[in-house]
Amino acid sequence: MPHPYSSISRRNLLAGGLALATLAAVQPALADGSFPEPGPFPPRDALLTYADMIKALEKIERTSKGAVQVTTLRELGISPGVSEAGRDLYVATVGTGDTHVWLQGRIHGNEPYGTDTMLDVLKSVGSNGNPTFRRIRDELTLHVIPMYNPDGSELYIRHTVLQDGSGRRIDLNRDWAPNAFQAKESIAWYTYWNQVKPDYGLDIHHQGLKYADDGEPITMSLGISLAPSGPTLPGVKGGLYDVQTRQMQGQVYSALQGYGFVNIDRYSVGGGGNFYEIDIRGGVASAVMIGLNWQDMNPTGHSHPMVFFETYGGSIGQKSRGKAIEQNVRGTVALLEGLATGSTWGTDPLIWHDQIPHVPFVGYQTDGGLVTPWPAQGPVTP
Ligand SMILES: [Zn+2]
Repeated sequence: MPHPYSSISRRNLLAGGLALATLAAVQPALADGSFPEPGPFPPRDALLTYADMIKALEKIERTSKGAVQVTTLRELGISPGVSEAGRDLYVATVGTGDTHVWLQGRIHGNEPYGTDTMLDVLKSVGSNGNPTFRRIRDELTLHVIPMYNPDGSELYIRHTVLQDGSGRRIDLNRDWAPNAFQAKESIAWYTYWNQVKPDYGLDIHHQGLKYADDGEPITMSLGISLAPSGPTLPGVKGGLYDVQTRQMQGQVYSALQGYGFVNIDRYSVGGGGNFYEIDIRGGVASAVMIGLNWQDMNPTGHSHPMVFFETYGGSIGQKSRGKAIEQNVRGTVALLEGLATGSTWGTDPLIWHDQIPHVPFVGYQTDGGLVTPWPAQGPVTP
């Protein structure tokens, strides 16, 4: 979500639930786990392009026998319904349930695997006959956005680029804020979000290289863009989303423990022994929790919990690519299954604090800068 950071460290897990951090900058060791070393950066043409995505979506729609519907925001009558450079913005829906889930990839153009993940999940939910996917189809309606930022993806940059002559680059994940919405993509997707009024959301990113102090790569970090127990989230809906986002991530964490190649921690930023949780209100995942009402398009203040995954940056590398995508897919499916069956709400929100490894935090990274110190406030209880 925010910028990758260079520092390296992690935490350790104690059985009693205390997270004791061991701070050590470690050189990448040869991983002895089954998650391959990243290997060289893949050639750009090995990564999905905008045209690849459209082709894949059309194929998935065709083979799903009507289960998957692919459309563009322009076809839905949304204006502006295109990116800054005029590209159509694609969304696919699948499922017939009353619970609507927003699944978003590649809001940052140089974080490619959100696209692969979303296409894979879409294909499975659309066509796979096994009971898990059938249940997801029956209970949920998914709104799958494989490439939120097609312009940035084509340029392989984080941002989109304004076409007003300024050439200004806009981070689309800071552009859902009262005085923002500078890019067409933001207005288009926000308009669609207001039409859908989802119940839950997930956003997929990449982060910088990060190694555990045993030298093993952290293959994925789980994130909540408004820190639980932090400056904002406990005050939203009486703390409901503080609890629910932790349940969602706790479920993902627990489900992925069965896969030996996955090494998870909690998302953090900072370095040099000073680590922060993020509390950034202008990101999409935050704005939807706050219930942002921009230009009176959300007068009822609709809101919902939303979480994010951060794939290990080095795993963009050719060799670990398959596993990097696979862990995202498995995590996404675990979350969807939990939402479909309701098991998410039986998940202990304290897994977030007591089981998911994390560095010790000294404060929060907010829109206005770093806020310290870390408060002594305990977890919000259901
Ligand atoms: Zn990102």
